[in-house]
Amino acid sequence: MAKFIFVSGGVTSSLGKGIISASLAKLLQARGLRVTIQKFDPYINVDPGTLNPYEHGECYVTEDGAETDLDLGHYERFLNIFTSQANNVTTGRIYQTVINKEREGAFLGKTVQVVPHITDEIKRRMKLLGNEGFDIVITEIGGTVGDIESLPFVEAVRQLQWELPEDDCLVVHLTLVPYLKAAKELKTKPTQHSVKLLSENGVHPDIIVCRTERPLSPELKRKIALFCNVKQEAVIEAADASTIYEVPLAMMREKLDVICLKKLNISQFNEPELGLWKEFLDKLKYPKSKVNIGLIGKYIELQDAYKSILEAFVHAGAMNECKVEVVNIHSEFITAENVAEKMESLDGLLVAPGFGHRGIEGKIIAVQYAREHKLPFFGICLGMQMSVIEYARHVLGLEGAHSTEMNADTNHPVIDLMEEQKKITSKGGTMRLGTYVCEIEEGSLAHRIYGSTKINERHRHRWEFNNHYLKAMEKSGLKASGKNPESELVEIVELNDHPFFIGVQYHPELKSTVENPHPIFVHFIKAAKDFAEKSTSVRNPALHGEMI
Ligand code: GLN
Repeated sequence: MAKFIFVSGGVTSSLGKGIISASLAKLLQARGLRVTIQKFDPYINVDPGTLNPYEHGECYVTEDGAETDLDLGHYERFLNIFTSQANNVTTGRIYQTVINKEREGAFLGKTVQVVPHITDEIKRRMKLLGNEGFDIVITEIGGTVGDIESLPFVEAVRQLQWELPEDDCLVVHLTLVPYLKAAKELKTKPTQHSVKLLSENGVHPDIIVCRTERPLSPELKRKIALFCNVKQEAVIEAADASTIYEVPLAMMREKLDVICLKKLNISQFNEPELGLWKEFLDKLKYPKSKVNIGLIGKYIELQDAYKSILEAFVHAGAMNECKVEVVNIHSEFITAENVAEKMESLDGLLVAPGFGHRGIEGKIIAVQYAREHKLPFFGICLGMQMSVIEYARHVLGLEGAHSTEMNADTNHPVIDLMEEQKKITSKGGTMRLGTYVCEIEEGSLAHRIYGSTKINERHRHRWEFNNHYLKAMEKSGLKASGKNPESELVEIVELNDHPFFIGVQYHPELKSTVENPHPIFVHFIKAAKDFAEKSTSVRNPALHGEMI
């Protein structure tokens, strides 16, 4: 039976509960324990699949096709393991299960209530992964303590603390210790209040992790320990880090893992094995060169909308010992007149995934520029579909070629709704989701990248390459180098006469981890480095190639 660590948050959101949870998990994993993390989100949507990025950032898709919170991406990137549907639970899903049971008659005669029925279902799901052979299950509770919607989750933790053996369960509470410039002081009051609020709900934290911009002095730690009723060693400083990948090491210095192990009464563990992690960090911190990569999307102003893509660039950059400077370019504002000016300083171009027609023409113009100027190009999902449309319009001369997602009446539907999608009307969880096999043509760019002819990648889409146009495309040079062996669905397109031009219908960014950077990203950055080297003579050398 596994032991359970619960991570709650107080004072404000965005304190980095996901990163702290993932870092703790990493340290415990590095000590030889089998660890997994799950997230419980208090909102009523059944999953974040129907939320737009303004609401919820990126929607992360797991191998088994669950549309989940972006924190699961952090868990996978840190731990190098796969998560699943069971790792992300929302209030909506809990209620849905309970209400379905009620309709089946499972509670016949009884009044169905938040306590015990909703809390029982929360507890059941909190313990579920405990039966999967893990030593430790870390559960991150979304939201902030004190929110009305978080209450049933906190109540479930309170009950579990009594039901589980004492040393099988502990609570870590993450708070903020703000620095007041005018007073020149760090303030502990918000932390005291937040711990008080948690305690009023019957849950007392064993460990308090304090997000702070300045180091916490021993006196300050003593003060927090005194007022919040924990040992001083259990007050952990979580100072701002230059990269999220530093946080596990910072938590190790603060002995967060050791304190957890002590409290959980686990005495069998090794010294942490973090060799690969440190090697990665060194490469990340001391790059030998730099490339500028244009990221074209319509949610460019949102940090979280393209989270996995940005992290995949970090992994691939480190692998290439190259700093990847991401230049955010809003697709809505790209025109034929300004495209050259916007692309001039780039060494590579990534056209992002997306939905709907906003910014579409800008994406097509950008692809055309990359194709014609031999700028390394990487299109993901909608980005791949745009490369097909661009090729159809400008090389095959199919005027007005489009995706039926944006223009249902186009004369040339080169991207069309998948057959099995045509009868689907309900929106939640109904896209082509999760992992599918793709067979790669020998000798292709994709084959060189993957070093294999059979791969598995994750999907989230409704539209696809229209195979009616395949022959004409291939004849003139846009090759379908990867296909699903059963459905013949085109998964990868690439250009013959271009140094690096690849579009993929799936989402490779979801499978890039620190210890396993995704090969397409790695090769894309390599191609951008080559491009930068070639063009240094014609452009400002201070911007490209060698770091000076
Ligand atoms: N909107 C496109 C589709 O559904 C692309 C989706 C995506 O980029 N994830 O096919």
